[in-house]
Amino acid sequence: MKILIGTNNKHKVAEIREKVNNFRLDIEIVSLSDITSESVEIEESGSTLEENALIKAKSCYELFGIPSFSDDTGLEVFSLNGLPGVHSARFSGVYGDDKENRKKLLELLKGKDGEERKARFRTVICFYDGSEPKLFEGVCTGRIIEEERGDKGFGYDSIFVPDGFERTFAEMELEEKNKISHRSRAIEKFLEFMMNYKGLEK
Ligand code: IMP
Repeated sequence: MKILIGTNNKHKVAEIREKVNNFRLDIEIVSLSDITSESVEIEESGSTLEENALIKAKSCYELFGIPSFSDDTGLEVFSLNGLPGVHSARFSGVYGDDKENRKKLLELLKGKDGEERKARFRTVICFYDGSEPKLFEGVCTGRIIEEERGDKGFGYDSIFVPDGFERTFAEMELEEKNKISHRSRAIEKFLEFMMNYKGLEK
């Protein structure tokens, strides 16, 4: 069975593929760049991660007619009442400017320590095949450090240290991040659902 991942983010595609391959389900993951050379931009106009995930999965299904899966992720800092949250991609004001987004967050947290630097990543995945949409959530808690460390990963990875670790996500190999990350936890729930989906077998 083919499933389309509604994202242009190659890091997300790599993380999702690694996870799906480990489950050995009869699923072929195709990304937007595998099926079209045109750039597909879907506006994330929702006010929650759930709404945005739904918008992206539905739009992809409607555009390409392939059961679609999308992921919307936010970094939630508890002392900032959950910011940047659903605004994570455009926190600095420019959509998708990861470097400026990190800089703005580090500036906001300057002088704060301990509890005030606690945060979590939250991913919501939506699967849509033309029937009832299905949502799956994954969370990873940790802390925001004071300076960037590491050059792997993407987004806020270089300033986030997950609980139980001393290294940032950007200092981990993809496989290591993928054992504990918010996205991998949401994908595991999705894949468990897929095990019983229309006769797919492990
Ligand atoms: P979106 O889910 O692609 O809308 O991502 C929202 C924002 O969170 C973007 O700035 C991403 O770079 C960032 N982001 C999403 N997933 C991750 C992750 O796994 N690690 C670090 N940053 C992420």
